[in-house]
Amino acid sequence: MGASGNRCVRVKDEYLQGVLDKRERLLFDGAMGTMIQKNGLVSTGPLELLCLDEPEAVTDIHRAYVQAGSQVVTTNTFGANAMKLDGIASVDDVYAAAVACARESGARYVAADIGPLGELLDPYGDITYDEAYGLFAEAARAAGGAGADLVIVETMTDLTELTAAVRAALDSTDLPVFATMTFGEGGRTFMGVSPEDAVETLEELGVDALGINCSLGPESLLPFAQTMLDASEKPVIVQANAGLPAVSEGETRYSIGPAEYAAAVRRMLDAGVTIVGGCCGTDPAYIEQLSKALSELDA
Ligand SMILES: [Zn+2]
Repeated sequence: MGASGNRCVRVKDEYLQGVLDKRERLLFDGAMGTMIQKNGLVSTGPLELLCLDEPEAVTDIHRAYVQAGSQVVTTNTFGANAMKLDGIASVDDVYAAAVACARESGARYVAADIGPLGELLDPYGDITYDEAYGLFAEAARAAGGAGADLVIVETMTDLTELTAAVRAALDSTDLPVFATMTFGEGGRTFMGVSPEDAVETLEELGVDALGINCSLGPESLLPFAQTMLDASEKPVIVQANAGLPAVSEGETRYSIGPAEYAAAVRRMLDAGVTIVGGCCGTDPAYIEQLSKALSELDA
């Protein structure tokens, strides 16, 4: 199966179409996990269950990002697949609750988050491609049924798992599909994938936007973003961490503050990255600085 060029995509509005055509820029939110910790929320099981158990608290986090300038908020569904939920809650119920929490924040767009399964796929692990595809398809159908505006497949390190997730999202929804992979210091993912490999696979799959998230700060990700910009015509996304984490006295702190973070992201915007946001360690203060950087560019 080659490029899915014939897929009919339902794009919410003209602005989002502009983003897909690289005429407009788009600001995502920052971390969910960091904010869950910061707000002292405790879940008895997977964090995704907070959408069902503490919906107002989850909406408060989304709303803080919207107030900081996020155009898109990302659902708290990183691990909301049947394998991780393991019968505690249904995938449909978690996505329905998560999209409702995100929608309630007043965000312009709701992105349904799909993260990796957390187990290696065949030949490195026990999960087959077909099993992975089935789990991702169930999540993507739930996201589409719940009324999300787009799907973001993120934090992927393995091309086979990435392919299963993206293909499942493309086959199971008519929404725009974005996808990001996570690269380490050496410029490869944990599973040895380079930015060039990622672009080649994602272009062939026919995603609507592609890029990088997590692992490193924005300064370190800039060269990988440049590689993707050179190799692809698609909109490029970067959602960097707030630098590297360090734990002292039981508290996790990240090495890069909001202003420094936004200055580094500004260099990516100048290079041609059009979709930005934050990953681990970022909070609404980072998004506020990014929002300022974006409005300076538009001025
Ligand atoms: Zn992250």
